[in-house]
Amino acid sequence: MAASMKGRKCLVIGGCGFLGQHLCEALLEKGWSVQVFDIRSTFEDSRIKFFIGDLCKKEDLKPALEGVYCVFHCASPAPLSNNKTLFYKVNYEGTKNIIKTCQEVGVKRLVLTSSASVVYEGKGIRNGKEEELPYASKPLDYYTETKILQEKAVLAANSDDFYTVAIRPHGIFGPKDLQLVPIAVDMAKKGKMKYIIGDGKNVVDFTYVGNVVHGHILAAENLNLGSPICGKAYHITNAEPIFF
Ligand code: NAD
Repeated sequence: MAASMKGRKCLVIGGCGFLGQHLCEALLEKGWSVQVFDIRSTFEDSRIKFFIGDLCKKEDLKPALEGVYCVFHCASPAPLSNNKTLFYKVNYEGTKNIIKTCQEVGVKRLVLTSSASVVYEGKGIRNGKEEELPYASKPLDYYTETKILQEKAVLAANSDDFYTVAIRPHGIFGPKDLQLVPIAVDMAKKGKMKYIIGDGKNVVDFTYVGNVVHGHILAAENLNLGSPICGKAYHITNAEPIFF
């Protein structure tokens, strides 16, 4: 059964980003005590304690993790950069650093923001079930390659003493989005959106940020010893995919 989270301390790693900011707001509304860890500062809120640092550095992370009930890890370099070294460093090595430091400090819960791209093999998926979809054998790019490694590391770390879960959104839209919709609009303005790829029947899922946040919070509330969600990945979507 979901536990009451009033006053529980959580840390949102990547809390200054698009999803992270929405997650912080929803957690505060639910009565959590919210801390943010990020490499940059994008907003101020007197209700939140901010830690500025690099998630790859244990000495940066450790103070932010003290006394934390649950960590939300939603930090990543921007997908479009396709910087192999940076993706491996932050998404893979950095995530292993988060796991290790959580375990050292005694944090017991980790909710990872993964990505639906980890199972994408280049063909549309309809009504896909998590347990039936293997990781992509040929990931699209370095971002996806390292999201797979990251998710595997997080789920493999699940144990009777450390509970982990991964949430897999696809494209997230909503207020404060600086990537998906603004980039699509910019491309459309430049005349780059007039081509049909494939037979035009491809299915693409975009998920409203509020639904993605809801999935993260449900995961955190149910992440306890013996819970069926421990060590598993969940796709988060709107009720119906958007066709175009
Ligand atoms: P974002 O770029 O808005 O936020 C990511 C945050 O991570 C930024 O604030 C950035 O400063 C921080 N960060 C990056 N490197 C860091 C480091 N070394 N140490 C500390 N902080 C660091 O991205 P977003 O759109 O909010 O995405 C959040 C998560 O959701 C990511 O894990 C991403 O892979 C995943 N995701 C996003 C989408 C989407 O459409 N936006 C889709 C699927 C999955």
